This record gives sequence, C-alpha cells and structure tokens, in this order.
Amino acid sequence: MRRSIVAGNWKMHGSRSMIEDLVKSLATSVNTDTCDVIVSPPFPYLSLVQQLTAGTGIGLAGQNCSEHAQGAHTGEVAADMLVDLGCEWVILGHSERRQAGETDAQVAAKAATARSAGLKPILCVGESLAQRQSGDAVAVVTAQLAALVEDLSAGDVIAYEPVWAIGTGETATPEQAQEMHSEIRAFLVEQQPTLAQQTRILYGGSVKADNAAELFAAADIDGGLVGGASLKADGFSAIVGAAQ
Ligand code: PEP
Repeated sequence: MRRSIVAGNWKMHGSRSMIEDLVKSLATSVNTDTCDVIVSPPFPYLSLVQQLTAGTGIGLAGQNCSEHAQGAHTGEVAADMLVDLGCEWVILGHSERRQAGETDAQVAAKAATARSAGLKPILCVGESLAQRQSGDAVAVVTAQLAALVEDLSAGDVIAYEPVWAIGTGETATPEQAQEMHSEIRAFLVEQQPTLAQQTRILYGGSVKADNAAELFAAADIDGGLVGGASLKADGFSAIVGAAQ
C-alpha cells in the first residue's frame, strides 16, 4: 500500500504576509494522518515556512537544487542548504525548468546530488501537447524516465505532469492519466523491479478540489503535484482530503 502524497508547488508566487496567512490556515486545516502533505515555497521563504510548519506534519520541498554540491555557482542553491533549512524533498525537472533549457542529464545529476544530501527527489516528466497529438507521449515520457531510472532510489517520487495541463485549466482525464501512470509503472517494473511497486507516482496538471478525487481514485495515481490550487488553503486542504 503506497501512502498518498499531495505536494503544493508555489512556484514564484507569494510574499511574507501572504505566505504567513497561507501556512497558518494550512496548519489548522490539512490532515496529515494518512497522506504526506508537502509545500514548496520559493527559496527566500523556506526558513519562514519551516518555522510556521514546525510540529504540523507538513513537509518542505525545494523547487530545484544545483547539481553541484557547493562552490562558485552564483545564484544556485545547494541540496545541503535545503536540508539545512528543513527540506526533506526537492522538485526536479519541472517542465518550466525544462522549457528554460534544463536537460535530462542535468535532472539526473541534480537527483544524484539531492540523494547524496539526503533529500528525496520528486522527479517530473511529461509530454507537450504537440507530442501527445503526434502519438509520442509515451515515448517522450519513457525517454525522460530512462535518464533517471538507473539511479532511482527508495523514497524517490515521480510526478507525471503533461505540459499541456500545467496552469492551463485543462486536466488530463482520469483515464488519460491512469494510462500514462500504468505505462510509467510498467517501465519501472522492467527497469527497477524491486522499487516499481513502492515508488509513488503523482499526477500534476490543473488538479483542483473538484477533480482531485476522481484522479486519485485511479490505481497508479498516488496523489498530486499541485500548482495554482496550492495557493489557497481551502482548495489545497480539500485536495489533501481527496487523497486520504
Ligand atoms: C505544477 O506547477 O506542477 C502544476 C501542476 O501546476 P497547476 O496545478 O497550476 O497546473
């Protein structure tokens, strides 16, 4: 039995006051008993969110980390620093970063650095609309995974996020999502048989309170990576409720 995860990716949103209000509401409304609940604030607010979430059961994720351990890399954030600020997780390979030029090899290198620091990577994969329309969705996602599976570790999470569903309001149907999640599971069975059944696979792409339950009911969907809807405490708590 895989424990569900609902992770909120706040992207580059928020301010000190907005984040204080959001986390205080989440702390009283989300139920973390049977679901891992994670929030991923922008780097400057990690410390604040760590203080506000202490003792609540809500976990913390970085939105990215460097593939380098430390050193002269201006503007980068080391995996060790995320651990130092209380993170247990890090989102890697988000499509918004891939669109800005991040390659499969870089995502794999970042994942290795993150694991060495003790972080659990949430590894994002997903096809564009053009790739889906040309029938290449499974091949694209499998190629992205192929770069990552060799070093897959217990605790790693995969997030299937079709690019055409991120921030667009257009959600994959539960059937479309389950179809890809089962392809991902089958690929893991082939490549990493001992980890395949325990690895949690999240769906991301316009998950909201009103579509979460039917998505999370699918056999291979173990929760969600949530962008826009994670910025409002009531909506995010309802999504967590749907994953219980
Ligand atoms: C995301 O950023 O990972 C995401 C899924 O965004 P949204 O929920 O807004 O589509």
